[in-house]
Amino acid sequence: MGENSKNKRRCSFCGRPESEVGLLITGMSGYICDGCSQQAFEIVKEAMESPKGGAGSLDLKELPKPIEIKEFLDQYVIGQDDAKRYLSVAVYNHYKRLVQKPGKDDVEIEKSNIIMVGSTGTGKTLLARTIAKLLKVPFTIVDATVLTEAGYVGEDIESLLTRLLQVADYNVAEAERGIVFIDEIDKIARKGDNPSITRDVSGEGVQQGLLKLLEGSVVNVPPQGGRKHPDQKMIAVNTKNILFICGGAFDGIERKIAQRLNTNVVGYGATKETVKIDRSNMMQYIAPQDLKSFGLIPEIIGRLPILTYLNPLDRTALRNILTEPKNSIIKQYIKLFEMDGVKLNIQSEVYEFIVDKAIEYKLGARGLRSIVETIMMDVMFEMPSMKVEEYELTLDYARQQMEKANVSRLQNA
Ligand code: ADP
Repeated sequence: MGENSKNKRRCSFCGRPESEVGLLITGMSGYICDGCSQQAFEIVKEAMESPKGGAGSLDLKELPKPIEIKEFLDQYVIGQDDAKRYLSVAVYNHYKRLVQKPGKDDVEIEKSNIIMVGSTGTGKTLLARTIAKLLKVPFTIVDATVLTEAGYVGEDIESLLTRLLQVADYNVAEAERGIVFIDEIDKIARKGDNPSITRDVSGEGVQQGLLKLLEGSVVNVPPQGGRKHPDQKMIAVNTKNILFICGGAFDGIERKIAQRLNTNVVGYGATKETVKIDRSNMMQYIAPQDLKSFGLIPEIIGRLPILTYLNPLDRTALRNILTEPKNSIIKQYIKLFEMDGVKLNIQSEVYEFIVDKAIEYKLGARGLRSIVETIMMDVMFEMPSMKVEEYELTLDYARQQMEKANVSRLQNA
């Protein structure tokens, strides 16, 4: 290309000739220089990231409907239909509350905080993390265990909102429309059903504090978290419109449910037909009074009007978790191999074997990953240096690797 044509071509945006710019990209009927494309990138990025117009500009018509929210969750989380439906509706209603304008009819939609009960490793946090991907409001996950020692060395309740402020870039109005997922809510339950238990470190005090947040009030949040510090400047946050989703394993609550169901069956009001109880999944019968028997104070339960549960994961669920979710462990391994130009084939018996081991060692869904990692460790070490295009993972090899492994290490994973 001659010197002449170099000077003829100009950036269609800033007009500079090719000789004055670093790089000129050719389009169908024009050119763009490196500087202008960089600038365009920044403009696009900013436009995409900023919540449209900031606080108060959600448009209900553009927001995903409950069915769409659930379909999105289905791509990542196996089963747990009940919890998914409740979550989808709650999030959608949360949007409705945010867009409502004070009208003539004075009907004010109140928030409905949620509590999800389910054994550890059944997908509570996964649900929360997944829903966060499509939320149009600030969202954060906090852990209630940091509060259990409040009054001693634990954190103040208000610090639960610090993370929310941080994800909202300290924009208080934005944070006040956000959603907070409080994990391990069961850890602040009163130990034992006896309210007069002598010294209650973790129980009622913390619950009373949490109540304030749940019901909606103006609280002073330490911007850096931790305990309130005399010289830390607090930020006032109104929790009226913040949606709280709580999750907890409530270990042993099945017993309370069973006790209640047994008494009901003989008591007045027992149904004429005795409904057959599915003892393998007591969680599905959970009712607010079981949370009370577990040690949550009635006021807290009243502020968590939506109670839903997660099913224990059976064989089929575990098998599906291995391969079905959009970013399942197996899909991740296939990708890891692909990056080295190797096609990974897995004998179908291997999947059954992995599920067997997860059940045998009571590892649940969390254990699936550690089992797969144990099986794949040596291959992952050697494969990148091997000149192969395909690798077949056989049942014999998987078995052999598991036998070699230190199972106690897996169980602590
Ligand atoms: P929980 O919060 O209920 O203790 P998690 O959501 O942290 O459990 O689940 C632990 C891991 O197990 C997840 O990261 C995910 O890999 C897997 N898992 C658990 N339940 C499911 C599910 N229903 N569908 C897909 N994966 C799941």
